[in-house]
Amino acid sequence: MAEHRADVIIVGGGMVGLALAAGLADTGYTVAVVEARQAPAWRREHTSNRVSAITHASRRLLERLGAWEAIAAARVSPFEAIHAWDAAGHPGVTFDAADRGEACLGHIVENTLVQDALRAAVGRRSNVSLYCPVTVDDLAIEPDRVGMRLGDGRRLRADLLVGADGARSMVREAAGIGADTRDYHQRGIVATVTTEIHHGAVARQRFLPTGPVALLPLADGRCSLVWSATEERADELEALDELAFSNALTDATEGVLGVVIAAEDRAAFPLRRLHANEYVAPRVALVGDAAHVIHPLAGQGVNLGFLDAAALVDVLAEGRQRHGDAGAYGALRRYARWRRADNALMQTAMDGFHWLFSNNDPVRAIVRNLGLGLTDRLVPAKTLFVDHAVGRRGDLPSLMR
Ligand SMILES: Cc1cc2nc3c(=O)[nH]c(=O)nc-3n(C[C@H](O)[C@H](O)[C@H](O)COP(=O)(O)OP(=O)(O)OC[C@H]3O[C@@H](n4cnc5c(N)ncnc54)[C@H](O)[C@@H]3O)c2cc1C
Repeated sequence: MAEHRADVIIVGGGMVGLALAAGLADTGYTVAVVEARQAPAWRREHTSNRVSAITHASRRLLERLGAWEAIAAARVSPFEAIHAWDAAGHPGVTFDAADRGEACLGHIVENTLVQDALRAAVGRRSNVSLYCPVTVDDLAIEPDRVGMRLGDGRRLRADLLVGADGARSMVREAAGIGADTRDYHQRGIVATVTTEIHHGAVARQRFLPTGPVALLPLADGRCSLVWSATEERADELEALDELAFSNALTDATEGVLGVVIAAEDRAAFPLRRLHANEYVAPRVALVGDAAHVIHPLAGQGVNLGFLDAAALVDVLAEGRQRHGDAGAYGALRRYARWRRADNALMQTAMDGFHWLFSNNDPVRAIVRNLGLGLTDRLVPAKTLFVDHAVGRRGDLPSLMR
């Protein structure tokens, strides 16, 4: 069977891999995307329980790649503020888009919709080939090229292999890159919930000793739930029928939106942290969850992945002008330096939050109350947070500025 030659092979056609493929194609590279799974399509009549809070920087990326228009036309939910509080009776802190002259802090979007729109955007680019659904059977990473045989017998060859294949990355393993992993001993329970009171375009999160519970506003007035809970608490919650679960959620959110009337499509995911020891190896780069997995409490996972993808596009675009080799190690190192420190900082911040809130220890409670109390009054800290959320930062890749 003939061998297909591309400049870059991306293993993993999730949100991050597809965004990278479209971005690289626009700089002139030929790209092959290999995806093992036929992802479920977005459905107008059903709101998916897997959503992401997309920052303005990520939205700008999706706009430039030609994916946002379809997303916005289908279903998005802008949120204007975030309110966070804890179980110790403190009033908490509100981050408001209006404080920085913005209409909203970001958008809640179903993952299936983002994926569909990116797949369509990739399909419009003649220099991207999508191989899906198919597995990678044989992978050879050589000093001057990479080659693979797919499950259907086809062969691919390229200058660079990118692992966008999620937390259990096969590419990471094949490249011999280790990872620092930590089990949070929590599960994230997701569901689509109906509440008595309308969310008013505010994302809400309450920190409980057993983990944070978040209600993200949806376009139809319902909320998407992300309830992170210790394994014991998650076992209890998962065993409840819908009515009892809804009641438990009303209690956990202190009835902030009145009574929780329904909680449909419940599912649970184990929560782990992972950081690859290296983001690159000769002829290999990692992006998205293949490089880092963080706690969902700040809803940043895919946003960090999009930052990786856009940064890799910048670095490879420059490399192409200089020497034309997509796998040049110097360019890859530049990508790693740019993104690894940034992601490590975000992971550390999430771990700090997790440590601070996941306990009833009185000292931590005092620190929490002081922290939250101060933050609500400390304008520069709030400004910094909101600027991060709306994507006003100095080091953004060009596709996200
Ligand atoms: C409960 C929960 C809530 C979350 N909420 C948010 C949020 O609000 N905001 C946010 O930004 N993030 C959130 N996240 C994180 C976010 O979902 C992930 O960071 C994001 O999906 C990662 O995208 P990715 O494309 O890097 O990886 P994935 O989505 O894991 O995609 C990897 C792709 O690679 C494919 N693949 C894997 N192995 C192979 C192989 N060997 N060959 C071919 N293909 C392969 C898979 O089929 C998949 O399509 C949340 C996560 C959880 C668990």
